[in-house]
Amino acid sequence: MQTENITERIVSILYPRRCPVCDDIVKHNEGLIHAECKRVIKPAGRVICMKCGKPLTDPDEEYCHDCASMRHYFDRGVGVFRYRSVSGSVYRFKYSGRKEYADFYADAAKRYLGSVIKDFNAEVIIPVPMYANKQKKRGYNQAEIFAKALGKSMNIPVRNDVVIRVRDTVPMKMLDSSERRSNLKKAFNIRENDVKFKCIILIDDIYTTGSTMDELAREFRRHGVERIFFVTLAIGQVV
Ligand SMILES: [Zn+2]
Ligand SMILES: [Zn+2]
Repeated sequence: MQTENITERIVSILYPRRCPVCDDIVKHNEGLIHAECKRVIKPAGRVICMKCGKPLTDPDEEYCHDCASMRHYFDRGVGVFRYRSVSGSVYRFKYSGRKEYADFYADAAKRYLGSVIKDFNAEVIIPVPMYANKQKKRGYNQAEIFAKALGKSMNIPVRNDVVIRVRDTVPMKMLDSSERRSNLKKAFNIRENDVKFKCIILIDDIYTTGSTMDELAREFRRHGVERIFFVTLAIGQVV
């Protein structure tokens, strides 16, 4: 424990941790986020769609508009934060190498959604894979970084070798929702046929239309996975 603390101190001096909200340095004794920055980031809350976890405006509704009108391949999912309150943070996590934010994200996921995630009773956590060339350019897959931090805090194994992305996709913001669906066709290949999970949690950074999650969930269903859940960092409208 002592050694670990010393190593942590040295790392924190060499690579000071950044605040997931304001991106300034967080001192060792300040934890993972500045106290005053905590209130900026908003959890998805309790009034959410029972299928996809999107925040709802009407507490009497059970499902969001999307989930009331269409079928999903996943059983249920939840998001940790409201997208708008965390969009800048997620952007830096994704594109600016702020991998350390994952510790704060996983902490928050456990605090807000720990019992829900535990009730999923999943055998494994699987991050949504990134197309190999894209990941090479970026250096890491942010969904995998979050998955690993969450797996550690929830004590659930993480597997990143089960599925690969076989096709890159056009940036989703360029497309309407039907184009989004066809854009994702055959994007994923389940790699290990001998892996026989029955209950899994998929992890991604953002949930908006759910097209990525549905496509991946569909592939896992075809391979015999019976219960499919997801957890994303941010959820809600991107616009
Ligand atoms: Zn801050
Ligand atoms: Zn929904």
